[in-house]
Amino acid sequence: MWITFIDLYTMTQVLLDEKKLWKAVLAEMEVNFSGTNYNVWLSNTRAQNLTENTLDVVCPNSFARERVEKLFRPFLEESVSKITRRKIDLVFKVGSVETDNLQNKSKTKNDETPLFKKIESNEQNIVPASDFGLNITYTFENYLMGNTNRLAYAIASSIADNPGKLHNPFFLYAGVGLGKTHLIQAIGNKVLKDKPGLKILYCTGEQFTNELIEALQKGKSKGKYSSDQFRKKYRSADVLIIDDIQFIAGKEATQEEFFHTFNDLYMNQKQIVLASDRNPEEFKNIEERLTSRFKSGIMADIQSPDYELRTAILRHKRDKNKDNIQNEVLDFIAENITTNIRELEGAYNQVLTYSKATGEILNVATAKTALGNIVQDKRSKPVNLNTILKAVCNYYSITQTEIKGKRRNKEVVIPRQIAMFLIYDLTETPYLSIGEFLGGRDHTTIMHGVSKIETEMKNDTKMKQDVLNIKQFIYQN
Ligand code: ADP
Ligand code: MG
Repeated sequence: MWITFIDLYTMTQVLLDEKKLWKAVLAEMEVNFSGTNYNVWLSNTRAQNLTENTLDVVCPNSFARERVEKLFRPFLEESVSKITRRKIDLVFKVGSVETDNLQNKSKTKNDETPLFKKIESNEQNIVPASDFGLNITYTFENYLMGNTNRLAYAIASSIADNPGKLHNPFFLYAGVGLGKTHLIQAIGNKVLKDKPGLKILYCTGEQFTNELIEALQKGKSKGKYSSDQFRKKYRSADVLIIDDIQFIAGKEATQEEFFHTFNDLYMNQKQIVLASDRNPEEFKNIEERLTSRFKSGIMADIQSPDYELRTAILRHKRDKNKDNIQNEVLDFIAENITTNIRELEGAYNQVLTYSKATGEILNVATAKTALGNIVQDKRSKPVNLNTILKAVCNYYSITQTEIKGKRRNKEVVIPRQIAMFLIYDLTETPYLSIGEFLGGRDHTTIMHGVSKIETEMKNDTKMKQDVLNIKQFIYQN
């Protein structure tokens, strides 16, 4: 049964302001829609500019605006029209949303659970983001959404509003430089701001491992930081965010500890967010009981940014920094730097620095020269065959002996052929020598491997992304 609040208002017949009006509309929606739909999409909206026949509905970001409009427009319009007793068209907008509604939220019955108890924010309670390992600039406001990260963004933002409730665990995977760290830290930053009493813990898989090793060692020698303290620290988190979780591959003690941490938090409905450079399906040397848990909540990936998103990110950066760069220069950068967002930002900085350093006017021609340098730098940087082999082995968690060996199972053959391809592509070593380097293989085998990967990269975006990721590791080191 649809419940209406109209009587309340027909009785009072007061002239409504937007705040009261919206409060009544939201109350009606809250009763008529599921808690999840209401909390995710509507509780963060506000209304402004009530005119004779229109009202603006302000949503926190463009994705929310799209969803709210699509899912709720007729219901909201009906409710507003009933309450105001005239026909009102809603105009959906993006803008900052006051915390008014958030406070209302804490009065809903869901928020009675311990995790959602209203947290009084007072000055002492506010801990700086950096204390949680968070970069304060990694916020949702600075994160642009496009076709390639839409789902990941939507999940992350609903988690930030309702940690521990809707999507647990959240497993995010994508290649390097595509925005994993930024997005998962945005969750941390938002929770910290909206619910300052919750304990957020952000670390990388590597930090988790190192800290555990330290705790175990100190524990043995009766040092200060014992494994009990380690456990207490991680298991007391309300939101645990672990970046680059793939690092725990092959590390048994870490996996064992992480398994228990995970279970403990999960049982207590604490939010777990994990990011990785690959899908759990592709993990080697991570126990099945862990990968199955990674997959048990919600997963999303981020693809390489398309042209629209690349342009939008550059324009946002330009506007935020108030840099003097014309759109056509930004478009030129977006057209040419297609790999990932980190490289895109690097190119932007390079173009700007080049023009400042040379005093040349910044136009497409100057940008071309500046970017030419980036490409040339990379290409001319000599790469050694062992570096390539090491990067491939690390990426696929296999050993050099396996790559150079004789086994022909899929897990080894693909990395082996990728090694062939990368060595050929990046070093122009002759097939014969590549064959010798990779365990005494015939040059025709190498030719076949190289051309197979070339073809697959054209037809299979996953293969293309894997090869790009490995290349980045090679040039980072
Ligand atoms: P990853 O962790 O996947 O390697 P990062 O999160 O470190 O990638 O992102 C690399 C850079 O690109 C960071 O400076 C980040 O702020 C920026 N970035 C990534 N995705 C976006 C986005 N969608 N909008 C704006 N900036 C982004
Ligand atoms: Mg990262």
